Amino acid sequence: MQPQGRERVVTEAPPFPEADLMHIVDLLPAAERERYLEVRAFLQSTVRQASIDYWNREEFPFGLLAEMGKHGLGTLQTDGTSKLFKGLMYVEVARADVSLSALVGIHNELIVGMIDALGSEEQKQRWLPGLKNFTQLGAFALTEPEHGSDIAGGLETSARLEGGEWVINGAKRWIGSGTIADFALVWARDAADGHIKGFIVETDRAGYRATKIANKIGLRIMQNADIVLDNVRIPASNMLPGATDFSKANDLLRDSRAWVGWQGAGIQLAAFDVARSYSLERRQFGKELACFQLVQQQLAEILGNASASLALMAQLARIQTDGKLEMAQAAMAKSTCTRLARASVAMGRSLLGGNGISSDFEMGKLFGDAEILYTYEGSYEINSLIVGRAVTGKSAFV
Ligand SMILES: Cc1cc2nc3c(=O)[nH]c(=O)nc-3n(C[C@H](O)[C@H](O)[C@H](O)COP(=O)(O)OP(=O)(O)OC[C@H]3O[C@@H](n4cnc5c(N)ncnc54)[C@H](O)[C@@H]3O)c2cc1C
Repeated sequence: MQPQGRERVVTEAPPFPEADLMHIVDLLPAAERERYLEVRAFLQSTVRQASIDYWNREEFPFGLLAEMGKHGLGTLQTDGTSKLFKGLMYVEVARADVSLSALVGIHNELIVGMIDALGSEEQKQRWLPGLKNFTQLGAFALTEPEHGSDIAGGLETSARLEGGEWVINGAKRWIGSGTIADFALVWARDAADGHIKGFIVETDRAGYRATKIANKIGLRIMQNADIVLDNVRIPASNMLPGATDFSKANDLLRDSRAWVGWQGAGIQLAAFDVARSYSLERRQFGKELACFQLVQQQLAEILGNASASLALMAQLARIQTDGKLEMAQAAMAKSTCTRLARASVAMGRSLLGGNGISSDFEMGKLFGDAEILYTYEGSYEINSLIVGRAVTGKSAFV
């Protein structure tokens, strides 16, 4: 019998324990493993299937946020859970939907994490409670229309202190949740000292305009925006006191780069789930696809790539726990896991034949989403150059 589209390819009971051939999940202490299983069940039963229609329509599933909050996905950064648990949560959200995993990752690493680490007491009290249960959202606004890879040196958005207020001018591009967030964490160059600083800009301030970027081939649920900041005035107290120059944000930016490695592992498990399920249902030449050697080889390669990514990330979590994670390690993990993810979804796509190009069978959705992982949080090439510099001592950026 042939699969009838999306209903058939998402299994009721996800095969992660079997797919986790290297027993990575067993590294969690018992209490975290229990919580992991409970959140994974929620993601598989409530989020995975539902996300396909939202993805097709480029719509944000506001109705899911409260439940995601109840399952603790807004507090991963601050609730004291282990790095491995946090990483495996990112894996499971990505396995259910990559766009929502982008939201959860940016939210924890770059919004809650930044305010918690670099914000004032007043900023923490004002924003953290709402952020933690997803009743409020923030957007991380760094990239600009003319500066992506070279943003650290090239950033043009300006901040001028004028009569006790900051006046922000400039433009940002690709900003996740830019049209739906309560505030944007805007990185702007202080006209007085030339340093890049972080500012909380409420999205209802006069002069803030966000336009949704439509027609993306991946991450279609994430509401990415072009933002214009036209003489936006904010109180002096909206500057993050801990972010008085860009280097202060480095540790968090390094960790958020590593987070994409977890996403790379998660999307590959999703591709494996879909490919295995399809191969057991689709028949050609009188047999299930799963009976053919070349199909089994592809399944083994996807799972091998996923397992290599998970094992690399589990070791990264150990280094992170010891406080020893460096940018080159995060860059290697990010570039390697997303390179493997791209290869895995391409294999998965061909394994589903024509149906592999359709988001109805989920694989087409994964195929598009993998492209974003490859490029954001520093493109594949830039992360490779960071590794290259670390192992040769020579910078090949320019
Ligand atoms: C869907 C999506 C979501 C995003 N979300 C956010 C967000 O929430 N917040 C945010 O601030 N940003 C976000 N970004 C921006 C993202 O981080 C940038 O797209 C990324 O850093 C690359 O910048 P760019 O697109 O301007 O490409 P460019 O920098 O223009 O690069 C184009 C190409 O040139 C290559 N290249 C550039 N310089 C070099 C060099 N020196 N050597 C070799 N090759 C080079 C790059 O690798 C790439 O292949 C998002 C992007 C996307 C696509």
